[in-house]
Amino acid sequence: MNQLDQLDIAKFGGTSVKDFAAMSSCVKVVTANPHTRLVVVSACAGVTNMLVELASGALTKAEVEDRIEKLRAIHQEISSHFADDSRIQSNQVIESHLNEIRNLAAEAAMERSDALTDRIVCHGELLSSYLIVEVFRTLGFKAVFFDVRTVMRTDSVFGCAKPLPEVLSTLSRQYLMPLLGQDAVVVTQGFIASNSEGMTTTLGRGGSDYSAALLGEACSAATISIWTDVPGVYTTDPRLVPQAMPISELTYLEAAEMATFGAKILHPSTLMPAVRRNIPVFVGSSKEPEKGGTWVKPETKTHPSFRAVALRKNQTLIVLASPRMVGASGFLARVFGIFAKYGKSVDLVSTSEVSIAVTLDAGSNTSGITTLPQDMLAELREFCHVKVEDKLSLVAIIGNEMSKTAGMASRAFDAIDQYSVRMICYGASNHNLCFLLNEADAVPALVKLHQHLLED
Ligand code: ADP
Ligand code: ASP
Ligand code: MG
Repeated sequence: MNQLDQLDIAKFGGTSVKDFAAMSSCVKVVTANPHTRLVVVSACAGVTNMLVELASGALTKAEVEDRIEKLRAIHQEISSHFADDSRIQSNQVIESHLNEIRNLAAEAAMERSDALTDRIVCHGELLSSYLIVEVFRTLGFKAVFFDVRTVMRTDSVFGCAKPLPEVLSTLSRQYLMPLLGQDAVVVTQGFIASNSEGMTTTLGRGGSDYSAALLGEACSAATISIWTDVPGVYTTDPRLVPQAMPISELTYLEAAEMATFGAKILHPSTLMPAVRRNIPVFVGSSKEPEKGGTWVKPETKTHPSFRAVALRKNQTLIVLASPRMVGASGFLARVFGIFAKYGKSVDLVSTSEVSIAVTLDAGSNTSGITTLPQDMLAELREFCHVKVEDKLSLVAIIGNEMSKTAGMASRAFDAIDQYSVRMICYGASNHNLCFLLNEADAVPALVKLHQHLLED
């Protein structure tokens, strides 16, 4: 049988590649599975945040130098474990990236842009992938560096670019797949990509999971493994609720709902390429692989009513009111047309006789700048009264047959009866029930829901 018939793609997140010891654990995980031929890495923990700051153009000269020094320390900790030749060469590579970052940060100080941000942040993944190749070699294994921008083609929406899977598939067959059958493991970058003119783009914060899934689809992988800092997907974020329990298997639908409603463990778009090709996705801890993890697949043995709860912060609620809306055809089409024009996607919707309330996705743009376009609000104000509320959070319950089972909603409402709920969404999907709450109430409400619905 061809070795690539069971191809596994392993993605390692920022904490998994944060230093030499963490990178060594990744090498152990990769070399333990002969089918893992392609490795996708994020930037070392904290690096993308610093690069985003440098790209904002808002730092003083001293702050820029402070960030450059911190970036040097993170990457040189890794190279300090290499043999002399490799260390000297790696330190030169690190310096050339830092020089480029410094020059680009100076450009950003004059005028920032999303395109320039992408040119700056890409250095995080370029550095981590370069260094982990050297870690493989230091530990006696063969690995080669591959610049993912050769194959990962996107549109030109810098900071949140949309991948073009067909172009990716053609380019992968040409440039990437021939390398996978050779004896060295291929190491590449998550998150970064390029447009048709060869300019660097990014897939939005947390986008490396999505990169791995897209590469899995393009290379017809048998499995995609997401290695992170927790041993699988839990019933909620274990950092918020220590009682959270690991889930051994999840359906694509459940995992996609969890990711959409804030479970940071998977980027919300990750499941789409896997679903298109029916590729099972494994989630586990690179530090503690022996603890097992979660398999996300088309079907699971159990379909519990309540599977998990998730929290998504930074929600904006827009209430649009117009007495003339009553029965007026075309009102919603006009409203949604305006949101589409400004590239804003709507999460929750609720309507009354004279008003409509929607929550807008703050987006995962790499720059982190998420202000509401004033022109969009002005266009809406031409035909209705517009009220914007922020400092809200979405708390979602993810499960099965939720809107078909009697008593489900009352159990959820009872759990959070002491909090005022700004909006509810129930019924559109069989897999979720969402509450919009004040930011301050969101974590206590999440804890209560977990306690009442998932801790028996
Ligand atoms: P990586 O850098 O590996 O991509 P992330 O920080 O993006 O890692 O995602 C892992 C984190 O996701 C965990 O440390 C955890 O705090 C958080 N998380 C949120 N929801 C969940 C969940 N339901 N199960 C497990 N982890 C979760
Ligand atoms: N390094 C990028 C980020 O921090 C992408 C990722 O980690 O998935 O958002
Ligand atoms: Mg992540």
